[in-house]
Amino acid sequence: MRNSKKVTSFRHGKVVFKWCDECATLVLGDECAICGSVGRPFSVTAPGDLRPCLQADTELLKRIFYTYFGVPDFLDGVQIFLNKIPGEDRADEIVVDGRVIGVLLFDIVSDDFRLELRIDGARALADIAKKGVVEIDMPRGHLKGKNIPGTMIKRARGTFNANDPLIVLAGDFICSGIARVPSDQAKNSERAIGIRDVGRGRLRIAGKKRCWSRFVEANISYFKTLEAKAVSDVKSYLNSKKDMPVTLSFSGGKDSLACFGILEKASKKFSMIFVNTGLEFPETTEYVRRFAEKRGFELLIADANNGFWNNVDFFGPPSKDFRWCCKVCKLGPLTALIEDRFPKGTITIEGNRTFESFARARIAFVENNPFVPNQIILNPIREWRSVDVWGYIWWKNLEYNPLYENEYERIGCYLCPACLASEWKRTKMLHPKLSSQWEKYLYAWASKMNMPEEFVKYGFWRWKVLPKKMRRLAADIKISIPTVRTDCIQMKMVKGATPCVAGGFSLEGVVMIPRKRSFAKIAEMMKTIGPVRYSDEYEIAMVKTKDGTIKVFGGGQIVVTSSTPDTTDELFELAVKALLRSQLCTECGICVKNCQRKAIKLNDGPMILEERCSHCGKCTDACVIAHYYDKLVSR
Ligand code: SF4
Ligand code: SF4
Repeated sequence: MRNSKKVTSFRHGKVVFKWCDECATLVLGDECAICGSVGRPFSVTAPGDLRPCLQADTELLKRIFYTYFGVPDFLDGVQIFLNKIPGEDRADEIVVDGRVIGVLLFDIVSDDFRLELRIDGARALADIAKKGVVEIDMPRGHLKGKNIPGTMIKRARGTFNANDPLIVLAGDFICSGIARVPSDQAKNSERAIGIRDVGRGRLRIAGKKRCWSRFVEANISYFKTLEAKAVSDVKSYLNSKKDMPVTLSFSGGKDSLACFGILEKASKKFSMIFVNTGLEFPETTEYVRRFAEKRGFELLIADANNGFWNNVDFFGPPSKDFRWCCKVCKLGPLTALIEDRFPKGTITIEGNRTFESFARARIAFVENNPFVPNQIILNPIREWRSVDVWGYIWWKNLEYNPLYENEYERIGCYLCPACLASEWKRTKMLHPKLSSQWEKYLYAWASKMNMPEEFVKYGFWRWKVLPKKMRRLAADIKISIPTVRTDCIQMKMVKGATPCVAGGFSLEGVVMIPRKRSFAKIAEMMKTIGPVRYSDEYEIAMVKTKDGTIKVFGGGQIVVTSSTPDTTDELFELAVKALLRSQLCTECGICVKNCQRKAIKLNDGPMILEERCSHCGKCTDACVIAHYYDKLVSR
């Protein structure tokens, strides 16, 4: 499937960047293009997908530093970068002046942001903070990690609440710390303050008027090199396939925008493809339309229309680990559009980046879309960091989606389960109508599934299998949430693969699935496994293959017999997949394109032309429903 051998592994540990103190900006290349400085190294947590802090986030940080330390103009005019790190929800290292001064965290339970102060933040604020500063007696022994009793507090600037970040002054030392109790209880507390880190010496944040154009200027040769490499890669591939039409996948996000800049230089002619999932932010659809029009490019829209709402009752709410919506609302319409407009195939430029997720950590420059056989995908910016993308966009003066100036770090569907609780809070403010429609649905669904309200309130619905951090959160707030979300499709094993009296093995299970289509459709789908005999009246369908026999009954019972436990399991899985496809088919058409024998037609789900079908199973392998077999079925 992968044509290029060059892959990138995901990074762990620390990543080093460089800062030019003279020009007060980040240096991405070998040296600052303004003053020639090689820059002072500093490190952030891996993978280091550093990004500039845009307007709304800057305002948010200013509000937070003002709340905790009473400094209204601390970050005025300063270049701030953010670096995403693992956390319960949004967690960003805050980089100012080439130093990590703190971590911005979103707390799901209080539904608000908080700050974890780092030592360089404490050193920068120690003299100017009007509150949040506590002076203590120098304790015996080390300071780091220590809990300080209230009796050691000499004086405090302003009041504080429990869990507020604090600057702690102890003799010559400056520490970053946290309040264990509110200031009015501190004196009598054995554990009044926790010390996080210890340092010495004040820091001065560089002067004002450090705008982003300076960042671009300092890295101009770096951006030119980045572009030249990407353009040359794309050009040489396109030259090798001159007869294939070229398309740009334009999602309305920054990465596809950078790809626009590259493709504009690499190819004279291309069309832009926008997949409208029906769940886009209005800002995104408007931005995409306006951008294509302004630039004079043809915009092809693959429209999912009401696909999401037509299917959500059957699949359940999408989750981070079960994004059926991407397959139904993106892949399906895209396949149809490509078939219609580019029947002989297309080369599509996409803005996938390895830094985005573990799943994308190994993408290659050239990939074949496994679901759309006639689409070749080029990933020219796969190794770019977010900061590279933004610098490039600013250098090329490309107009970007206004949502980025509204605290959104990535642009997707408004109800995407991958969105952070902090982003959902923002969506509720920006689009109350859209968000309340989805919340209403989620609450109704939770009540049907006997889930507590917190299941929706704290965003547990976003996982099918709860990760450790969410299990911990459930324990902290003392609610009982099943580790694996139960949806409307359930499977019960009546009997595992056990030896039969008559020889061989047999296995029995029941799949409980809301009936969307007639039993005849189940029999139809089983034709992909082998020749089917079935009775509509008694709702029984049977397939005999060289490995064994499958019987499926109208109530969802499946009985399999075969010669070995392994083949028994395999046949059972095929039967469940056929059952799921027959009932949940969204008519995306992907299996039709993947059947080389042209044995599938769509008519209220797939119809199999028996005389053509070779039972190869390729359509099942390509089917988005079968793909999620283990996620769809709760055991
Ligand atoms: S891909 Fe075509 S030939 Fe193969 S099992 Fe499916 S319908 Fe039959
Ligand atoms: S059966 Fe075919 S058309 Fe239906 S969802 Fe699966 S791949 Fe799409």
